[in-house]
Amino acid sequence: MTHRLPAIVHLDADAFFVSCELALRPELRGKKCAVGGRERGIISSASYEARACGVYTPMPTQRALKICPDLIMLPHTSGLYGRMSGRMFDVCETLTPLVQRNSIDEGYLDLGPCGFADGAALETRVRGLQARLWDELQLPVSFGLARNKLVAQIASKLRKPRGFIVVPPGTEEAFLAPLAVGKLPGIGAKTEAALNARGVKLIGDITARGEDELQSIFGDGWREMLATARGEDEREVHTEHDDAKSYSQQETFGADIGDFTAIERVAKRMIDELLPKIREDGKRVRTITVKVRYPDFTQETHGRSLAEATDLEAPFYPLVAPLLRAAWGKPRPLRLVSVRFSGVEEGARQLEMFAQADEKRRRLAGVLDRLNDGGRAAVVRHGHQLGSPG
Ligand SMILES: [Mg+2]
Repeated sequence: MTHRLPAIVHLDADAFFVSCELALRPELRGKKCAVGGRERGIISSASYEARACGVYTPMPTQRALKICPDLIMLPHTSGLYGRMSGRMFDVCETLTPLVQRNSIDEGYLDLGPCGFADGAALETRVRGLQARLWDELQLPVSFGLARNKLVAQIASKLRKPRGFIVVPPGTEEAFLAPLAVGKLPGIGAKTEAALNARGVKLIGDITARGEDELQSIFGDGWREMLATARGEDEREVHTEHDDAKSYSQQETFGADIGDFTAIERVAKRMIDELLPKIREDGKRVRTITVKVRYPDFTQETHGRSLAEATDLEAPFYPLVAPLLRAAWGKPRPLRLVSVRFSGVEEGARQLEMFAQADEKRRRLAGVLDRLNDGGRAAVVRHGHQLGSPG
């Protein structure tokens, strides 16, 4: 979707898991911190101070402690990240109903329907949102504002932490041109190196090439690559309701990983992070799907369903290794792994709440029916209550 104003916002929480922990322990702010398990052995989030020391995700904890001996290791707090994520997006929904919760710590907002007269007014409101997320939740979040999702996402990641970049409509191509090609989604470190070897270093090097040359570099996908390099994107922001059919998380590795145990740990950690969110939403899920992607972008997906939907982690753990083995057919390192839960059903708590709401509506309907006998005016006065959840 293309807008007259930079109305598409991509927000991306900075060092999300660490930031959630620091919200509980502000005295650790400014220190080299990382979230991860000693026994699980992998860093899942590192503060910017720790990153400056060379710590990245996912890195084995032991190695991180070797290169950064004063690193403060924080254990995962069960349920915290799903809760904080929910609160972050709830605050966003006070600004616009069009919120796409993309993953636990990033998403898109569409401010198109909010009726802003100009870009300045819109920008002021989004700056207000950024300030609110910090004041109320102590979450540092970076923002990109543009007329489409592609450019907004690149912008939000450009100046972390607590970045705020606006790309005025019409300047997309100029904004992207001086950036490294690796900033484009889908171009990882190895592809970037291959492109560099052919003289394509900046995104502007793509738009400057002729058709024939692009075809020889990118093959059949050259038109899409050119459109992407120009900052063109027509994708719409999908609200939670469109996306409610699944919960997923993915992780792109800084360096390709070939160690089965390490990948299995990452996938299990995703289970640990997604199920609390599912419980919080009052849902249950039946199907788990594991996807792996190789550095050349080929990918493989395998899934399995439980006999009954659940909101617990335990039934899914034993499925991870067999699914990974099935999906990871080639003995090659991976670029990305993702875990997705689908077959979403209402949880018991939710069903109970619906039943109570139904019961309230039935009682209200009964009251209205009786009033109806007494006279029409009363019905009209109380009639609006019928639609409220009670
Ligand atoms: Mg983030």
